[in-house]
Amino acid sequence: MSEHLNIAIDGPSGAGKSTLAKAVASALQIRYLDTGSMYRAMALFATRRGVSVSDEAGLRTILDDADIRVEYDERGQRVLIGDEDVTDVLRTQELAMGASTVSAHPCVREKLAELQREVGRNYDVVMDGRDITTNVLPHTRHKFFVTASPEVRAERRLKELRARGSMQETYEQVLADIKLRDHNDSTRAYMPLRQTEDSLRIDTSEMTIDEALTTLLNAIAEKQDR
Ligand code: C5P
Repeated sequence: MSEHLNIAIDGPSGAGKSTLAKAVASALQIRYLDTGSMYRAMALFATRRGVSVSDEAGLRTILDDADIRVEYDERGQRVLIGDEDVTDVLRTQELAMGASTVSAHPCVREKLAELQREVGRNYDVVMDGRDITTNVLPHTRHKFFVTASPEVRAERRLKELRARGSMQETYEQVLADIKLRDHNDSTRAYMPLRQTEDSLRIDTSEMTIDEALTTLLNAIAEKQDR
């Protein structure tokens, strides 16, 4: 078990996990690790190598070459493939779906989960993802399951896309995409998304980000004092 403060947040896409995790990191002055970006980087790497994100055998052959690394600078977390900083190209719908498919393969999950554990061993960190409470940091006492209804999540995602100037997606498409990813993430055979018994569930459907943050920080402080 790590001697560092390790905070684990799981939940479906668009529930507000990353906004909350970043706010927790900034309030506690610790690192934030966005594990989804590592799966996105893996999808990008496979695509560049001409390997399909569904091809387990093909993925195995390129896994040792997939030098996915995480570094921190004044902008926060950066994701690198070798020496190339790919952080700014990872947030597309295409790589989100690619990550969802690539993440179903046990060989990929084992590799990335080990890199994530290493961050937890070396730093005080808050991580968000799908298997942080169940697999990456199962021994931490700070576990959260952050969720919201699919409709609320679709509305938030659409707003985010519009704010970035992306106008072509419709609400129905975004909702369908969220439901498909939920389905993939929670039904995959290996390390599906699920809430552990010892996780605190936070449904952000009708909460402001500040309310959710206060709930999280209070729960963390309470367990630290014990
Ligand atoms: O969180 P984000 O949307 O960036 O994640 C992209 C995809 O990566 C998710 O839909 C999920 O399938 C996968 N993922 C995962 N385990 C994690 C983080 C992300 O399977 N810890």
